[in-house]
This record gives sequence, structure tokens and C-alpha cells, in this order.
Amino acid sequence: MKPVVIVGGGITGLAAAWDLQQQGVPFLLLEASDRLGGKIRTDRSEGFIIEGAADSFLTVKPWAWQLCRELGLGDRLVGTNDKQRNVFVLRGGKLHLMPRGMRLMVPVDPAGLLESSLFSEEGKQRMLAETAIPDGTTGGDESLASFVRRRFGEEALEVLGEPLLAGIHTADPETLSMEATFPHYLEMEHSHGSLTTAMRQAETSPAPLLPGQPRTAFVSLQNGVYELIETLQARLDAHIRLNSPVEKIGADTTVYLASGEKIEAAGVIVTTPTAQAARLLPGVSAELAQTLSGIRTISSATVSFGYREEDLPGPLDGFGFVVAANEPTHLLASTWSSTKLPGRAPAGYALLRVFFGGHRHEADVNLSDEQLLALAKAELRQVMNIKAEPVISRIFRWRNANQQYEVGHLSLLARLRQQSPAWLRLAGSPYEGVGIPACVLQGREAAKQLAEII
Ligand SMILES: Cc1cc2nc3c(=O)[nH]c(=O)nc-3n(C[C@H](O)[C@H](O)[C@H](O)COP(=O)(O)OP(=O)(O)OC[C@H]3O[C@@H](n4cnc5c(N)ncnc54)[C@H](O)[C@@H]3O)c2cc1C
Repeated sequence: MKPVVIVGGGITGLAAAWDLQQQGVPFLLLEASDRLGGKIRTDRSEGFIIEGAADSFLTVKPWAWQLCRELGLGDRLVGTNDKQRNVFVLRGGKLHLMPRGMRLMVPVDPAGLLESSLFSEEGKQRMLAETAIPDGTTGGDESLASFVRRRFGEEALEVLGEPLLAGIHTADPETLSMEATFPHYLEMEHSHGSLTTAMRQAETSPAPLLPGQPRTAFVSLQNGVYELIETLQARLDAHIRLNSPVEKIGADTTVYLASGEKIEAAGVIVTTPTAQAARLLPGVSAELAQTLSGIRTISSATVSFGYREEDLPGPLDGFGFVVAANEPTHLLASTWSSTKLPGRAPAGYALLRVFFGGHRHEADVNLSDEQLLALAKAELRQVMNIKAEPVISRIFRWRNANQQYEVGHLSLLARLRQQSPAWLRLAGSPYEGVGIPACVLQGREAAKQLAEII
């Protein structure tokens, strides 16, 4: 029997492979580079566990922790250290504690917002007035910026909407699609007339935990997120080929490798970023390749530093900070990794990281290592008064890695489905969710759909 060929060995491709293996369907996973994991990368050095990109994944979307349990990794899951859950926002050059009772940008507890130093008085009143703003949904798409301005006002967009909500997608809020990224907010507006009202009601009857669901909102693995990739690699090894870039896919399901080899496939799951997918697919459909090349990307970078705790001006008492739009800094955000998750730094040391790039400062990703390290140190000195030299530093660049879900993204997905033959599935972060859980789900669904028709 011909195999299903999976192109790309990131978490989406590996989840697809795992599902096919469970179903007893023959498959072959082809990865262009010499390692699996794609955007999941963990560096373990000198007792530090340093994440290059993802450091944890959401538990309310259950597909990633459920996969971990299936793989026997249930005991290896580690929750975030919620006793020190403080999150700060950099505004006006100062770190302000996120107001008590905020659910992202929704002020469920008005007293918490009123006591906060983060917003102006007018900004607070405008946010609290959200309960009285009539439902303005049209049944169509709109940008995140338009939505937040409408419901909570301009200041909420600048201080929380852009850094927190668009920040999850490393996106420009003026172009980010509400329908594709926060559809439940549109639903709440439509059903309750207000997000604040809807969330207050939801707080009184929270959804019960699924069997086996971790208690924290985010989890990682004891040895870092890459432990999931290593475990999948060990279980799937015989059917994985590294250093095997695919060059093109033919309309008759033949997969052509750059090495000149051809593989007759029963079906194909493409999980590469869209620029690569667009290059693979003109032979299947010129329109499909054209649609794929219309999906934009944005670049980012992370810089991690390990310090001796005694060298820091104070403890890292929170999960980190985000940066209000228009702040005169190149930082996008900072994670205080050794507070957020256990085991990220050896005893007596602390680990933190900062994010650069994004739509405002994308060119920073092209700075040399020396320049990027100097910029990160200067910014941390300014914001956190850190003057000490780190004992370890790591840089990870993510060029064109953040796929943009722009207004109209759901129509674009419908077009892609129409333009794809039944034996071809596109899955992964460019399409129906960028988080690891959504990638796992997409990989597994693609595997199930192909298993049904081959
Ligand atoms: C900085 C950053 C931080 C993030 N933080 C989080 C987080 O905290 N939590 C979370 O849940 N998510 C996070 N994400 C998102 C998440 O990590 C990604 O969306 C996810 O890992 C993408 O997986 P994927 O398999 O779809 O794609 P990728 O990881 O991009 O994998 C695609 C693979 O295809 C291979 N490939 C490309 N071309 C070819 C070819 N021609 N032939 C064969 N192989 C090819 C590539 O080498 C790569 O291995 C973050 C992302 C970034 C960039």
C-alpha cells in the first residue's frame, strides 16, 4: 500500500504521523532540515532550560496535553507557578501590575481597574462603559483594533489590545482578523451585548475540568517543550527522514524530493510554512499556490539571559511583562522564565527572555548577534535596572515565522479547501490556530480525513 506522505516535521507533521501510526496507516514523514520540531526548540545548557520560541501550551484547548498523556508523558507535565502569577505592563517607562480581575482586556472586577496605575481616569471609565455599548457585530469580520476601539476605547487598544491580544499572534492589530483569532469575543458581544457581562456570568459557573486536565492554564514538560518532540521522534523514528526537502508535488500525488527521488503517495499532508507550501504546489493547482502566497508573515526573535540571582536588583516576582504600543523601546515583551515554570534555572540562578521584532520593529531581527545582545541589555537596564552581565545568553531568530491571520482569513481558508484535491491536506500554524494545541488538532484531523479516503 502506498504511504501517506507528511511534508514537514514540526509538531503538526508529527501529530499527523502519530495519528496515522495509531490507525495502522502506512506513512512517511519528510523533514527538510537535520532536526525535528520546526519552531519548537529547547536549549539545555549549564543547568538552564532555554526555550527558543514556545515555552508552554494552553490546557483549555486539550489536544496537546492529551497527546502528552497518550505518549506516557502525563507525569512529565509541569504547571506554571501560579502563586507568582503577576504580569506587568510597561507604560510611560514604568512597569505597572496588571489590574486585579482583568481577563486579558476585560475588566471583570471594576474595583481592580479603578485602583490600578496602568490607565488614565478617562481610559478606565471608557473601559467600564463597555457594558453599555450596544452590540455592534455585523455577522462579518473586522480587525482586532476596530473591535477593541469599539468596545473598550483607544487606550485599551494601546495598553492591552495590541501587546496582549495581537501579541499572541505577533500581529498588527489593524489587520488581525477577529473571526479567525477571537471569535468567542464576537459571540459574547452578540449573545450578551457585552464581554464584561458575559465573562462575569461565566465566572460564577466555570467549565468543569476534563478528566486528567492539568489545573493551570498553561503547562510545559520537565525538560522543556522539546521533550514532546523527542518522545514523538523515538516512537515514529522508522518512518521519519531528516535532511529530505520536498521540491514539488505532482497532480498525480507523486512527491518529488530535492535529491531527485520520487515517492508515489496515497495522500499528502503539507505542514510547512505557506511560502514553502506555495513553492511545492503549483503542479497541483496554480490557484492554490497563488492563494497560499497571499498569506503574510512577520519575523521575531527571542534573547534569553541567565543571571546569578544575587546579581539582580530584586527577585523576578511574576511571569514577566508586555509593552504598551507606542512605548519608546524596541522590546515587545519579556518572560521571567525561572519564575513562570519550575526547573528552568539551576539553584541560585534566574532565567528571563525578551522578544524583539513584530510589526513595529521587524528589522531588529536582522541585527547581528552582538547588536541584538547589546540592545537587549540596554533595554533591560532601562526597564528593570539590570546592570549585571548574564552568565549565559542565547538568541533565536524566527524569520517569517509568524503567519498572519488577516481580516478575511476564514474566507481564505474556505478558498484553500475548494482549491485542494481530496488527497491533499494543508495543516498547521498558518491555518486554524497558531498554538501547539491547535497544531496538534490540525495534524490529527488531517490524518483522520486522509485515512478515510485512501
Ligand atoms: C517566538 C514564538 C513563540 C511561540 N510561543 C508559543 C507558546 O508559548 N505556546 C504555543 O502553544 N505556541 C507558541 N508558538 C507557536 C508554535 O510554536 C507554532 O505555531 C508551532 O510550533 C508550529 O508548528 P508547525 O508544525 O505547524 O510548523 P513548523 O514548526 O514551522 O514546522 C514546519 C516544518 O516544515 C519543514 N519544512 C519546510 N519546508 C519543507 C520542505 N520543502 N520539505 C520538507 N520539510 C519542510 C520545516 O523545516 C519545519 O520543520 C510560538 C511561535 C513563535 C515563533
